[in-house]
Amino acid sequence: MQDEIKIGEFVRSYIEKIFEYCEENPDEFKRLQDKEYSKDIFDINYPFCMKTADISEKDLCRYWKRFSPHPDGEYVVCNIKVRVCSQWFDEYINQSRKLFSQYLFKKKLATKQELAQLKAISIKNERIKVASGKRKNSRYRGNAIGNAQNLAIRNILSNLGSESFNADDWNITKAYFVNQCAYCGSDGNLEMEHAVPINKEKLGEHRLGNIIPSCKPCNKKKHNKNYIEFLGSNTERIKIIEEYMRSRNYVPITKSAEIKQILDQAYRDVGLIAEKYIKTINALDSGGDNET
Ligand SMILES: [Zn+2]
Repeated sequence: MQDEIKIGEFVRSYIEKIFEYCEENPDEFKRLQDKEYSKDIFDINYPFCMKTADISEKDLCRYWKRFSPHPDGEYVVCNIKVRVCSQWFDEYINQSRKLFSQYLFKKKLATKQELAQLKAISIKNERIKVASGKRKNSRYRGNAIGNAQNLAIRNILSNLGSESFNADDWNITKAYFVNQCAYCGSDGNLEMEHAVPINKEKLGEHRLGNIIPSCKPCNKKKHNKNYIEFLGSNTERIKIIEEYMRSRNYVPITKSAEIKQILDQAYRDVGLIAEKYIKTINALDSGGDNET
C-alpha cells in the first residue's frame, strides 16, 4: 500500500485550483484570508492565505511562496499577491486532512475518486467507495488524469540519467545477485525492479544502479515502497543492494525538497492541461451520447 500523501504536499498540489476558483468567486478569496473562517473550514490556526505585503517578518516562515519555477514566487489572485499558510498538521492532531478534502469535494475542485486515489482520504475512515460501475459524466474524469500525471513524473525521472540499459547489463545485474531475487533470495522468474520506485514521493530513477532482480511475489508485495522500507530489519540485504548501487555509481535522490516541489509543479501542470481540454471538449459535446 502506498502511504498517504503528506498533508502539506496534498494542500500545495491544490492551491492553484483553489485560486482559480477564487478568481471566479472573489468572496471566497476574501473568506480564505480570514482567520476564523480558515479555522472553521480547515482547522488551521492562520488564515489560509494572506496578502504578502501584510505578512509580518516573523510569520514569513509560516507561509508558502509559489513553487520555484515561477519567476517571482508569489501567487497572484484577483491581482493581489498572496502566500499560503504552511501550518498544516495531520489527523492525529486535528481534522485538517479530512476538512481540506471535504472542501475540495464541495467546491468541485476534486472528485472523491481523485481524493481516494491520492489517499488524501483514508478510504476506511471516509467510507468512500471508488465506483466500479458506471457513473454519470465519468468519461473524462477520474483515473485518466491521475495516471497521466503519474506517467509524466515517471517520464521525467526516467530521463534524468543518460545511461542505456541492454540485455548484457541485465545479465550482469542478475549475476551480481547470483541470479536470485534481491529481496528474498529465491531463484524463480526474475523481473526488473526499481529499488527506489520512480514516482514523485520516492524520486527513483531509471538508472543501472536502481534496477535489481526481484521475484514476482516480492515485486508485487513491494509495490511503491522503497527497498529499505520493504526490507525493514533485513539489513544484510539492504547492504548488498546499496553495495550494488555504489558499484553502478547510483546515488538515489534523497530528501530534495526542491526537486519534489518541481515535480509537484509538473504533476499539477499536467492535471491543469487535462482539465483545460476536458472543459473544451465538454463544451463542444454538451449534448453527449449515452455510451458508457
Ligand atoms: Zn523475492
